[in-house]
Amino acid sequence: MEDLIIIGGGINGAGIARDAAGRGLKVTLIEKGDLGAKTSSWSTKLIHGGIRYLENYEFRLVRESLKEREVIKKIAPHITKPMRFVLPHVPSLRSTWLIRLGLALYDRLGGITTFPKSRVISLNKEFENNPIKSNFKIGYEYSDLFVDDSRLVLLNAEDAINRGARIFTNTNISKAVRKKNSWNIYLENGDMLSSKVIINAAGPYALEVLENIFGIHSKKKIRHVQGSHIVVKKLYKGDQAYILQLDDKRIIFLIPYLEQYTLIGTTDNEVKSFENPKITNQEKNYLINAVNNFIKTKMSEQDIVWSYSGVRPLVEDYNKKASKVTRDYTFEIEEKNAPILTIFGGKLTTYRKLSEHALEKLSKYLVFSKESWTDKKILPGGSAKSQVKIQLPNKFLERFESAYGSKIIKLNQYYNELKNGGEIITKDLYEFEIKYLVKEEMAKTSDDILFRRTKLGINFPISKIAKLEAILKKYLI
Ligand SMILES: Cc1cc2nc3c(=O)[nH]c(=O)nc-3n(C[C@H](O)[C@H](O)[C@H](O)COP(=O)(O)OP(=O)(O)OC[C@H]3O[C@@H](n4cnc5c(N)ncnc54)[C@H](O)[C@@H]3O)c2cc1C
Repeated sequence: MEDLIIIGGGINGAGIARDAAGRGLKVTLIEKGDLGAKTSSWSTKLIHGGIRYLENYEFRLVRESLKEREVIKKIAPHITKPMRFVLPHVPSLRSTWLIRLGLALYDRLGGITTFPKSRVISLNKEFENNPIKSNFKIGYEYSDLFVDDSRLVLLNAEDAINRGARIFTNTNISKAVRKKNSWNIYLENGDMLSSKVIINAAGPYALEVLENIFGIHSKKKIRHVQGSHIVVKKLYKGDQAYILQLDDKRIIFLIPYLEQYTLIGTTDNEVKSFENPKITNQEKNYLINAVNNFIKTKMSEQDIVWSYSGVRPLVEDYNKKASKVTRDYTFEIEEKNAPILTIFGGKLTTYRKLSEHALEKLSKYLVFSKESWTDKKILPGGSAKSQVKIQLPNKFLERFESAYGSKIIKLNQYYNELKNGGEIITKDLYEFEIKYLVKEEMAKTSDDILFRRTKLGINFPISKIAKLEAILKKYLI
């Protein structure tokens, strides 16, 4: 009998699995696809306080998020990167005093921090190759943290496994039956698991899971809000990101991405259907026009090398504008004899606190350590490297270090086991990495490898997919 079955392997499910397993609970997580394959891998990839939430007076959320910025930087140093954000001043949209007040509050709510405080800058003087049009003279600079979102999910899942949790990916639930003091969960592969408590962390699918699998009707509602990003060849030199204020009072980010690209997003587009979100032409035009209002070089649709979309599962707060709906989280517990806790909303940034709060809610049903610990223990690969000599070719090192951190030692073993790393699929992907990802990181498909475990998918030649899949098959057996 499990203490806890978690449904959904996005950031919230994986975060709760890690926390609960570390407190001695018997945990199983069931994910119908790959870890992080839904909303959690299609984000803007920021661990941030969310400066714009100050305008909605969401001080609790901003304070918690800013504190988490510091924690996540500490527990996942290899997959995160502190970044400077530059906000060009647009007097017609927000006055100087309002922005200065907002930034002072942002600095204040963050408490004691390793991130530099905000400051006013002259755009031309600050940047040798200032990409912003000359009519924008003043800017404001503050700091936040960039993260590899899908690897953050994976590392939480991996740590959960290291602490005794079981994680089943690509696993469908056919039905759930309530017993006297537990649930029986029947899987499509014929297996059956029992658990004292269920956590429904299915993100955009939370209500569907509750109704269709557990036969429970929730009083809460979810607003499904699509957000899309485009990726273009690097728009400007420098490692600063930009936050641009638009006429509709929204903001978008320009973020240096993977050495050669700029990531641009996002949008807020309320949707009814959310299975396979895709960027619309309207979203593309919106992002391109927004960038062209600020940047000296003109961008067009031809510059887009990749795009992606995700769906935010936001808690309904009856705000008219999708962009204004709260990004905070809440829980609902249906608690007859065997409780089921459903998560509504949340952000990548707050997943660790959300996990702690979810477990607090369960403390009257399960016996476990009340001591919070996930802010103290480093995620896999995040600890300092030992002095083991690495034989991997130099061209891989930078990418490997920022993805695998100290796990590079294990990867190196895979390299050595196969002669010169095995077959070459492309100059960036060899057989040993595929084997490592299958055996050590639960990869099962080419998408798991190309878009979530690595980001090689952006410019991976379609003609090489068959070869990648043939090698993958060899190691899946
Ligand atoms: C465009 C966009 C930009 C964002 N940017 C940021 C950002 O910069 N910073 C930030 O902090 N947050 C950001 N967010 C928010 C953040 O990405 C989400 O809040 C978070 O990823 C939600 O995680 P989750 O685990 O709740 O949901 P998901 O990641 O969607 O996970 C739910 C999982 O449940 C699984 N599932 C569903 N049904 C079943 C079933 N029947 N059986 C088993 N498994 C099931 C799904 O396959 C899925 O993997 C952004 C979101 C979007 C869409």
